Amino acid sequence: MTQDTYRLGVMDGDGIGPEIVPAAVRVVDAAAQELDIEWVPLPVGRTAIDEFGTPLPESTVEALSGVDGWLLGPHDNASYPEPHRSRLNPSGFLRKHFDLFANIRPARAFDGARALVPGTDLVIVRENTQGFYADRNTFAGAGEFMPTPDVAIAHAIFTRESVERIAHEAFRLARQRRRRVTVVHKANVLRLTSGLFLDVCRDVARQYPDVEVGDAHIDAMAAALVRRAPEFDVIVTENMFGDILSDLTAEIAGSLGIAPSVNVSATRGMAQATHGSAPDIAGRDVANPVAMILSAAMLLEWLGERHDDPAPARVAGTIRDAVADTIRGGVTTPDLGGSAGTRAFTDAVVVSIKHMT
Ligand code: ATP
Ligand code: MG
Repeated sequence: MTQDTYRLGVMDGDGIGPEIVPAAVRVVDAAAQELDIEWVPLPVGRTAIDEFGTPLPESTVEALSGVDGWLLGPHDNASYPEPHRSRLNPSGFLRKHFDLFANIRPARAFDGARALVPGTDLVIVRENTQGFYADRNTFAGAGEFMPTPDVAIAHAIFTRESVERIAHEAFRLARQRRRRVTVVHKANVLRLTSGLFLDVCRDVARQYPDVEVGDAHIDAMAAALVRRAPEFDVIVTENMFGDILSDLTAEIAGSLGIAPSVNVSATRGMAQATHGSAPDIAGRDVANPVAMILSAAMLLEWLGERHDDPAPARVAGTIRDAVADTIRGGVTTPDLGGSAGTRAFTDAVVVSIKHMT
């Protein structure tokens, strides 16, 4: 079913957020001529603390329940006054509240973006709710505790249901790509937890006989990626391994500044750059908006799939081509060795879109 209007929340966040999130909105608007997108600006982060006394106002969460998806800028928890600093951060809360169980993090080398391993084009599908970050777990409560002041204990949780749904996500994605899935685990040591993850992924793999499946230990995988990243297509893994591996693959592909992601459930999508709020460069018009722009494109692609509407995916393709063109043409921000500012880079992407559409 195609939809007339897509309503999307937009939250600038902290640090470089107010620079890169509006850049992403501008680019989507330029490319989305055949789509009707209604942006719903919502407060989050430091500005929300000043105005509402909390980094994630109840009104924001309520409004998000009524939209198709949203762009979430980075937030800088460390800069919040107490008690906000020690509480669950806004994106952690939203992942949990809306059960955004799949964190999709592509790493693609762009020509002209100084990739450490040229030819890299892979996607990490990270389970977002369980594993070793058990604080995110829905039924375990706090995942860490200290029985005495000198002993700290953490637990990890894996359930068949949660591993199944992330595995299906990975295999479905592989069918749209090069049809290869690598399951990353540590089942030789963590026999029960990582063992369950591997076993369930292998069970799910039987339903996708057209997709080639392999597996690797997390340590061996880290080493393999540094030299052989282009051999990998879709990597499915648990929460903490995925968090760490995706920073590695972002750098292999060029820079944190170009690494996009979405967090999705069956019914909601949240676009979020992989990087943080970069307070060291905030407000200077030097931040790279690519990660945020490409995250917005991923959200459109997800929306199109969910609503069985080809238009958002076409818009996403236009955005990706325009970003790739701009970088190939030598217009880049300082993190990629160029001298374009955030605004100048965004202008160049918009011009490239106008040439295409
Ligand atoms: P967080 O705790 O929020 O994840 P972090 O400490 O991991 O934050 P980031 O904010 O991700 O740090 O920044 C890490 C480094 O990368 C910083 O030096 C920052 O300036 C740089 N950086 C991050 N994002 C960008 C970007 N979009 N453009 C340019 N540089 C960036
Ligand atoms: Mg970080």
